[in-house]
Amino acid sequence: MENCIFCKIITGQIPATKFYEDDDMVIISDIDPKAKYHYLLLLKEHFPTLEAMTAKQGEKLAVALKKLPELAEKLHLEGGYRLVINQGEDAGQTVPHLHVHILAGQKMGWQPA
Ligand code: 5GP
Ligand code: ZN
Repeated sequence: MENCIFCKIITGQIPATKFYEDDDMVIISDIDPKAKYHYLLLLKEHFPTLEAMTAKQGEKLAVALKKLPELAEKLHLEGGYRLVINQGEDAGQTVPHLHVHILAGQKMGWQPA
């Protein structure tokens, strides 16, 4: 989608460090890391939030998440990791292209906002 930062990253118009890519998703490093290892899992199809997600896109998201155990060593996820979706304005979502934050590399206690 035009003017979407993540679509531009997916198509290579904006550079990013890509750790994994297949037909449906890409995993990049977050430009402003909030943990020792902070990645963003992006589905290649543009949709802003879970409300806008089709059942087929939901299946692709599940398949993408199921890849994480295979990528654990490459992404330094062996010690555990946190998955976060900032869903909508109140959650602080800043990029309206659904993405999953993957945070790892430190012990993370529960920190409510
Ligand atoms: P949100 O707040 O929407 O859940 O998260 C958006 C994330 O995208 C933020 O953690 C932010 O640091 C990251 N981000 C914003 N612009 C870019 C960019 O151009 N490249 C990369 N790699 N990450 C970005
Ligand atoms: Zn997009």
